[in-house]
Amino acid sequence: MEEKTAIYPGTFDPITRGHIDIIQRAAKIFHRLIVAVAHNPGKHPLFSVEERTEMIRESLAPLDLPNVEVETFSSLLISYAKSKGATAIVRGLRAVSDFEYEFQMALMNRKLEDSVETLFMMPSEQYTYLSSRIVKEIAYYGGDIDCLVTPPVARRLREKFGYPVHAD
Ligand code: ADP
Repeated sequence: MEEKTAIYPGTFDPITRGHIDIIQRAAKIFHRLIVAVAHNPGKHPLFSVEERTEMIRESLAPLDLPNVEVETFSSLLISYAKSKGATAIVRGLRAVSDFEYEFQMALMNRKLEDSVETLFMMPSEQYTYLSSRIVKEIAYYGGDIDCLVTPPVARRLREKFGYPVHAD
């Protein structure tokens, strides 16, 4: 059977347990999953693309996901997907609020390249309220983020916002 590759693109500023939930689900469906970190300067990310990539690698390292790779990209997503031989783009859907933007993106990507399907996956219920933005807000005010992100991400957020760094 032909190897099926999917791309899971995002800003991952930073990666949360919600993203990881989607990665684990998608890794079971595809032979190869590429977590693709978008530079996205327009979104003014808190972390550099290198930091975001490192945090993903550190977070996934203990999880035994041999078919998952992490890369960065700065080109048009659909061109990047084609260049990787991907047949699918995976996106996470949390609530109705995600739908409109995701729907527009998926249809636009299909218009640009009909051979790449966009697949939406729902995370475990406990992560449906979780976003990178909320994590950053809680971390900024010194709140407890340990159940929302992995230890390496929590450590970097504490460093970024100047809170005492707890042992991992
Ligand atoms: P983008 O800037 O591309 O939206 P994000 O890093 O915010 O990048 O999100 C990447 C993908 O992960 C999106 O499809 C988003 O809907 C999804 N996602 C984000 N947080 C969660 C979560 N808690 N559960 C499931 N999917 C999520």
